[in-house]
Amino acid sequence: MLSFSGQRVVILGMARSGVGAAKLIHRLGGTVLVSDTKPKEQLMQPISILNAHDIATETSGHLRAGQEDWNLAVVSPGVPAHHPLLHSFAQRAIPVWSELELAARALQCPWVGITGSNGKTTTVLMTNAIFRESGRQTEVAGNIGNALSELALDLPEEAIVVVEVSSFQLEFSPTVKPSAAAFLNLTPDHLDRHGSMDAYLEAKARIIANQDGNDLFVANVDDPYVRNLTHYARAEVIPFGFNLDNGVTIQNGNIVFRNGTGWRKVMTASELPLPGRHNLANAMAAVGICCGMGVSPEIAGEALRKLSPVEHRLEFVREVERAKYFNDSKATNVSATITALESFERPILLIAGGRSKGGDFQALRAPLRRHVKTLITIGETAEQLENDLGDLARVVQAQTLERAVEAAHSLARAGDIVLLSPACASFDQFKNYEERGKAFKTLVKDLG
Ligand code: ADP
Repeated sequence: MLSFSGQRVVILGMARSGVGAAKLIHRLGGTVLVSDTKPKEQLMQPISILNAHDIATETSGHLRAGQEDWNLAVVSPGVPAHHPLLHSFAQRAIPVWSELELAARALQCPWVGITGSNGKTTTVLMTNAIFRESGRQTEVAGNIGNALSELALDLPEEAIVVVEVSSFQLEFSPTVKPSAAAFLNLTPDHLDRHGSMDAYLEAKARIIANQDGNDLFVANVDDPYVRNLTHYARAEVIPFGFNLDNGVTIQNGNIVFRNGTGWRKVMTASELPLPGRHNLANAMAAVGICCGMGVSPEIAGEALRKLSPVEHRLEFVREVERAKYFNDSKATNVSATITALESFERPILLIAGGRSKGGDFQALRAPLRRHVKTLITIGETAEQLENDLGDLARVVQAQTLERAVEAAHSLARAGDIVLLSPACASFDQFKNYEERGKAFKTLVKDLG
């Protein structure tokens, strides 16, 4: 059993994962300081939780965190890898862990790690639904649900946790070893933080680095980066893709799983309630994980047929004057927006823009030409969007989401799709993508 008795641990960041990590270490006997650069007024809620557990806090900077001596530092995903404090910890030989590293060490039950640029949340929910259908006690953790540290000590050995794993969490996770790791795809995202595709790939590849022959690596072999990674896996590889002769694939319109000797049908592909080819890929990943861990393909199919739509991910909002409105606010990068555009056959009025993530919009050119009749721009990247794409569709500069919905409403014709799929982060105009998606839904519900 992990113990922090007699140890002093500093935690950088007072968000959900920092609070979870602090409570976990405190329960395991450690003395904890949680330090954040934000002023106290912005942290009243986590401070009251931590105070109730007698855990010390520091706000408006990392003075104590930087000066005092620690046995361990736990960093939140928001802290950049080149932060000077991390350098100072390294010089003083203070180990640095992610919250995932900490929580995975404390867990008694097996866990599944799902990573990739796009589709993690959806695949986590699908995987969880299948395990639940099979009668197993299952929890989700990571970006959705609780921080893993909140659950770690309270799950029995026979349970399973399905964890959404970001590349940030893998940066300081030297020993993580999921029983099954799924790698969905890899596209340029977060280059602002990782610098290059190679560095990003290296961070993500850590999810399989400690696996052995008893573990599973569920890999999207249609993605060249992920396919390449399978050569380095020590775990049993379960490939998934659209046209394979092994693993999980689509045959004659059915999702099928190869188990031992032959193929078993999971479900008819068109019965999946979530739209788009990408969701079929996500479903195949979930099937690979669950059936690879012993769930029958029939049970997996039953669970997938009953899925509900996922909020902010190609979520149908409403039909107004025979145009359909979809909220895909979670599309915070170019590849997610391409996926959304390719999910529709009908002409699209696309609302896009927000805070840049460091890439450009060139990759949107081909799908935009094929699917989009009007591009309605908002936010900080409006000008760059127009420069990169303005020759391919009519452009309306709306600046705000409110004006964008108004413009879409006045331009949409019967049969059109109005799609919020921004290809950018939301932080220039909203607290987060959820707030942006909810604002969009309210505006659309208030139309006409
Ligand atoms: P994540 O948790 O990785 O951000 P989500 O499931 O929340 O992924 O989906 C985020 C966005 O990516 C959505 O807008 C969705 O349309 C798109 N998307 C989902 N799955 C895939 C996939 N397998 N490939 C490409 N894009 C996807």
